[in-house]
Amino acid sequence: MIEYENLALSNRSFFEEYLKSFDQTMRGGWYVLGKNVESFERRFASYCGVDHCVGLASGLDALDLSLRVFGFEPGSEVLVPSNTYIATILSILHCGLVPVLVEPDPATYNLDPNLVEDAITSRTVAIMVVHLYGKICPMDEVMTIANAHGLKVIEDCAQAHGAMLNGKKAGSFGHCNAFSFYPTKNLGALGDAGAITTDDADLAQAIRVLRNYGSRIKYYNEVVGYNSRLDEIQAGFLNVKLGHLDSINNHKRELADSYFKKLGDSVVKPVRNASFHDVFHIFNVRHPRRDDLKAWLLERGIKTDIHYPLAPARQAAMQGLLKSTDFPVADDIHATTLSLPISYFHTTTDIETVAAAINEFGA
Ligand SMILES: *Cc1c(COP(=O)(O)O)cnc(C)c1O
Repeated sequence: MIEYENLALSNRSFFEEYLKSFDQTMRGGWYVLGKNVESFERRFASYCGVDHCVGLASGLDALDLSLRVFGFEPGSEVLVPSNTYIATILSILHCGLVPVLVEPDPATYNLDPNLVEDAITSRTVAIMVVHLYGKICPMDEVMTIANAHGLKVIEDCAQAHGAMLNGKKAGSFGHCNAFSFYPTKNLGALGDAGAITTDDADLAQAIRVLRNYGSRIKYYNEVVGYNSRLDEIQAGFLNVKLGHLDSINNHKRELADSYFKKLGDSVVKPVRNASFHDVFHIFNVRHPRRDDLKAWLLERGIKTDIHYPLAPARQAAMQGLLKSTDFPVADDIHATTLSLPISYFHTTTDIETVAAAINEFGA
């Protein structure tokens, strides 16, 4: 049996360090917004190459507060890829804004800058880019368009911790950038957690106030805030894991290399380009008979996953909320994509077994 993911196995090599961190935090008696959060924020900002990081309760909260902090006029439009995970679109709706879905480049699954330009109207205020599967969007083009139109850029980096474009990290391009540390992510906690990275000191300060009941001084509330604090226990685990993030990413990149070497032409593989350092949160292939291939692999003891089976515009929750529902590129991706095992505990032998079974299935 080759599992798709097993979080106990992928965290196993960090257990001793986690226990030490937990013991220190428990005995220290300070459980919310303390030294662990402060040191994680400092270290993760430096890892991403930005000045500020604010720890939050989840990735969705990070997306919500990234928009909320700008105080956009209700009804303003935000551009977002039509094939993203639902969280990105939910954050726009949570802030009383209008999501305008833009089709991705079918080769990279990321926003197509030409289509972004076409979707801008007088009501557009921001672009939310999503570095899907661990590959950065073409950020130079996106930032040029955003700056020309005076738009804010928010990066959804939930799948791209440590991914780079020409040596520059995900979370360092946009005005305000959201990370999730959900357990399955490349930098995953042992529970929910998230963060925002930014170079703007005023934005960082405003987000710190928003995450803690709109309060700078205890029991004095300046704005209508939230409770979205990263807790000390998770921050302690994240401090441990951050020290290993590059080796986790490198291991996933090696497994991806094996897939590229061994997989034949019966599936569409991800595109690679020398200037992009991809971190393969997900290794997806596409096949016209995706569901048959998935069942064939399962019969051979190989578990796979689908990211995602239903496009956002087809979700029950989105009915009546979108300006358009015509997204053939997203529909096609959702109908044909298959995510192959690529976790920290997998070996190149596992990958060769998976690739051989896919090649045997054929076209
Ligand atoms: C995981 C994920 C999120 C949400 O993160 P949570 O921590 O689960 O709230 C947002 N966007 C993308 C692209 C994700 O993969």
